[in-house]
Amino acid sequence: MMILCKVMFYDEVTATMSSGKGGDGCVSFRREKYIPKGGPDGGNGGKGGNIIIEGDENTGDLRVFHFKPQWRVKTGGSGMGCNKHGKGSDSITLKVPVGTVITNMQTGKVVIEILEQGQSVILLEGGKGGRGNATFKSSTNRAPRESSPGVLGEVGTFKFDLKSIADIGLVGFPNAGKSTLTNLITSAEPKMGEYPFTTLNPCVGIIDYPETYQRLQMADIPGLIKGANENKGLGHRFLRHIERCNLLIIIVDMSGLERSPMDDYAELLEELRLHNEALLDKERVVVANKMDIAESVDNLKLFEKKNDVPVYPISCLEETGVSELKVILYNKFFK
Ligand code: GDP
Ligand code: MG
Repeated sequence: MMILCKVMFYDEVTATMSSGKGGDGCVSFRREKYIPKGGPDGGNGGKGGNIIIEGDENTGDLRVFHFKPQWRVKTGGSGMGCNKHGKGSDSITLKVPVGTVITNMQTGKVVIEILEQGQSVILLEGGKGGRGNATFKSSTNRAPRESSPGVLGEVGTFKFDLKSIADIGLVGFPNAGKSTLTNLITSAEPKMGEYPFTTLNPCVGIIDYPETYQRLQMADIPGLIKGANENKGLGHRFLRHIERCNLLIIIVDMSGLERSPMDDYAELLEELRLHNEALLDKERVVVANKMDIAESVDNLKLFEKKNDVPVYPISCLEETGVSELKVILYNKFFK
């Protein structure tokens, strides 16, 4: 659970669930006034319902499991006389945001990753219904008193983790200009900050390219500070959201008025490494922000000399280099 813009956001929850037990088979014999020895007519039990998980872009987070951590599907209906079969019980379909990873707590293994809208999986299969005695009838046993019980449903405890699927992760220390840049290049609807719950998660904005109908999703990872990995600040809670990005933008305040840009960059990389070393294997670019400030010019030269990484100078304040950056991002993904 984390707190963003005073709204709770649930991206890590645990739930215990069980699919439905099958209904029991029935033992019954046909009894009618003028048919003294009617045969067996006990019906089968109905199937127990499944627990189904479905990816849904309109589900913002995993709060459904936070508020209701136990889910149990009803037992299927029992078979009845007159060869009436029990009714299957209704499955429960649980909608989760796209990007949800489900881990079985017993085995510690990832069961499924929900990566698409509408993707649906049976997490727990309902038990089969039992057989009624009518099905046990044979030439040697014309009056079976046998039936079978419904099969038990499956039970499991699962961890649900939401890891967004953005193309680009925007990482930087506080005040580097993440929000300003996000507001400049991502579509205003829903506005970042004002309305944090986009279809994916609180911090994903859409960069639109109307000329080609293409779009990129960019996740703004706020609050990353030194020691984020040791639970300082909110940063470590958000880092999970860039694990799936294809490109990382490291935004650095090049003015050096608050901190040294060189140290900023090194510390950010270290935080990424501490969270997950694989993050360093991702393609990354540096965006040098606040180039409108005089000190930035020399700092940029030094930065480029010392670091072997593509650097794109911009000023969010004067909006210089910003549309160029949009084009660079476009070319990286679509050319
Ligand atoms: P975040 O914490 O990384 O999201 O940073 P913000 O986007 O909130 O920006 C922090 C501060 O830097 C704000 O006061 C911005 O107005 C300012 N800022 C952002 N970009 C620029 C820039 O290009 N030049 C200057 N001079 N200030 C900027
Ligand atoms: Mg911000």
